[in-house]
Amino acid sequence: MRLQYFMSSRFTYLRYIALYLLLFVAALVQYFITAGSSPGYVLDAMETYNEANTLFTRSPTASKHTASSKNGSLMGTVDNSHSGRNSLGRSSWSKMVLEFYPPGTSMRVLTCSYCNIEQPPRAKHCHDCDKCVLQFDHHCVWLGTCIGQGNHCRFWWYIFEETALCLWTGILYITYLKTSISGAWWKDLIMILLLISLVILFIFLLLLLLFHSYLVLTNQTTYELVRRRRIQYLRGIPEGLFPFSKGVCRNLYRFCCARSSINNMERLPTALELEEKLRPYTCLDVLTCRCC
Ligand SMILES: [Zn+2]
Ligand SMILES: [Zn+2]
Repeated sequence: MRLQYFMSSRFTYLRYIALYLLLFVAALVQYFITAGSSPGYVLDAMETYNEANTLFTRSPTASKHTASSKNGSLMGTVDNSHSGRNSLGRSSWSKMVLEFYPPGTSMRVLTCSYCNIEQPPRAKHCHDCDKCVLQFDHHCVWLGTCIGQGNHCRFWWYIFEETALCLWTGILYITYLKTSISGAWWKDLIMILLLISLVILFIFLLLLLLFHSYLVLTNQTTYELVRRRRIQYLRGIPEGLFPFSKGVCRNLYRFCCARSSINNMERLPTALELEEKLRPYTCLDVLTCRCC
């Protein structure tokens, strides 16, 4: 009977340790996945858009030069048609970006002076990556990459796993200290100092997780929240209004399921749409789940 109890408690302990190790490995793998994933660069989006566009469009410049290639100047033909396609691609990209800004407003499309490319709304140039990032959140020094439209979800999961791991480590630590501390507490001073660091780290991670969860639910980015008054397209919008929010459920769906692509770029809301968002809630709105 005693042996049976010992075996069962031993098995529970081993399962507990295995689960802890599994979480540790998952957090480590998530770190590398997030660090290696693309945040969604504007240049990549433009190239994808142009590639899709050139399948359907054939420029007169390109046809003209193809004809000249038959007369022998192959090098000139390739270069010229390429530059022609490039300039055409750029102009069609500019047109496409312009559509993301409300028509008839004084809002001007920002052109990044470093990448020489028109930025869609919510994009920003990162000086560490030296590229424009779609739905720029921040540049994470710990991961060595930008956090943007393409990897924000992975980043959230990484913080979540780190927070869970930190909490579990803390519990294991406290359990160990309870059994090992006896008499002279100063002998375990290092252990206590380590526990204090762990608690501080846990509080930091938990606050970060809550902060990013809030951003997800309201469809905001860290950059937009911190620099709200300096961002052109957010100027004049009241503090409590989230212009890109489409309701909690749809914000969550977009965050979890949408991938970084042109189709997921968000256009700026028009004045009418903003007014509608500002409208106070009625009983009917509550019944029809307007907030979701
Ligand atoms: Zn740029
Ligand atoms: Zn960056």
